[in-house]
Amino acid sequence: MQKTADVVVIGGGIMGASTAYHLAQRGCKHVLLVESGEMFGLGSTGLNAGGIRYQFATAVNIELSKLSIGMMERFADEMDQPVGLRRCGYLFMLDDRADLEQFTRNVALQNAHGVPSRVVSPAEIAALAPEVDVTGIIGGTWCPRDGLVDPNGLLQGFVSQARRRGATLLTNAVATAIDVAGGRVQRVVTSAGAVDTPAVVIAAGPWSGDVGALAGVSLPVQPIRRQIAVTSAIAGLRADFPFVIDFSRALYFHREGAGILTGMSNRDDPPGWDTSVDESWRFRHLEKAMERLPLLADADIMAEWAGLYEVTPDDQPILGALPQADGLFVCAGFSGHGLMHGPAAGLLMAEEILDGRAHTIDIDPLRWGRFEAGVGAGEYNVV
Ligand SMILES: Cc1cc2nc3c(=O)[nH]c(=O)nc-3n(C[C@H](O)[C@H](O)[C@H](O)COP(=O)(O)OP(=O)(O)OC[C@H]3O[C@@H](n4cnc5c(N)ncnc54)[C@H](O)[C@@H]3O)c2cc1C
Repeated sequence: MQKTADVVVIGGGIMGASTAYHLAQRGCKHVLLVESGEMFGLGSTGLNAGGIRYQFATAVNIELSKLSIGMMERFADEMDQPVGLRRCGYLFMLDDRADLEQFTRNVALQNAHGVPSRVVSPAEIAALAPEVDVTGIIGGTWCPRDGLVDPNGLLQGFVSQARRRGATLLTNAVATAIDVAGGRVQRVVTSAGAVDTPAVVIAAGPWSGDVGALAGVSLPVQPIRRQIAVTSAIAGLRADFPFVIDFSRALYFHREGAGILTGMSNRDDPPGWDTSVDESWRFRHLEKAMERLPLLADADIMAEWAGLYEVTPDDQPILGALPQADGLFVCAGFSGHGLMHGPAAGLLMAEEILDGRAHTIDIDPLRWGRFEAGVGAGEYNVV
């Protein structure tokens, strides 16, 4: 392995790959990415539901979506890699008055940022998704510009274009130490060798807490299991079936191939590294899923898996330079909605490192320092 690098990126998921690409694309000469797995994207990036949405509750997340989804629209042309962007829309269904009030405020904020979302009545929900049983639903929100993207296409596009621009991206390379001396980053030690560097980006997804500890930094990112099932083909399923979310149950559906992908978050699952499918949760999930989407009763489960959300105390990512040492940066903790923000996050990290400060979007609300003042209100639209 090379002995020096201008920047070492730790983690080869969407955050690391996007950061490496944007650094190389800006002309940073010696970018090294180290990924512990045998392939890129074996962490959360390879296990997610592929959803993209503008429907968030904070201005900074809405802006991250606008920047990222704009990049996805241009991805095939600029990165020579199709990413299967589909605008099927996201339909949030609500059964709680306080949620409806909060989502109504969220829509006002989204509209102020130019997002064409709107509040919808139960009758409109039934018209948008006639397949869904709307029992108990008092309203919802809809944005026709939300939808789906191919996670692997996005990741591979960043990996291959980063390499084409001169970055070195290694698999089977585990970061085991980050040496800091005199208040500065000095060196990263990996299972493939050691490299002197003035800058390190921690982009290790759910493992970011452990990687932060290598530099003596406490990063409040917790791994939390989330599981998904995909059904066999369902006859007559509409091509434009939307991404439907029963918010209070954290239950969701979207079209996947000719079948349905469905997930339901177990909000009581404690932090941990277990990624086996929880059988008892599986039955509860499928029972609730069939109640909401009765056509699932005719389908078989073809695939099932669990992955890890990388959750922070306010469900917001931690982005930017860390105050503990010069040259230490973090891009992690996207709390289960990071695939869609990965393109923007990498661009912002490159600005933070090369220009001294991210400037396309103000990332101050996402900096590590916010936790020193205690945890404030974070993102509400978390599934
Ligand atoms: C079930 C599920 C559904 C989801 N659905 C969506 C969705 O619909 N839309 C959306 O936007 N997001 C979704 N997400 C969230 C999204 O997948 C994540 O936010 C995103 O992939 C995080 O990317 P990352 O690069 O930070 O982490 P990861 O993809 O986990 O990448 C981190 C990498 O770091 C590597 N690593 C760890 N430690 C080290 C080390 N010491 N040295 C070197 N490498 C190391 C790991 O091997 C890993 O490959 C979902 C997640 C799950 C689990």
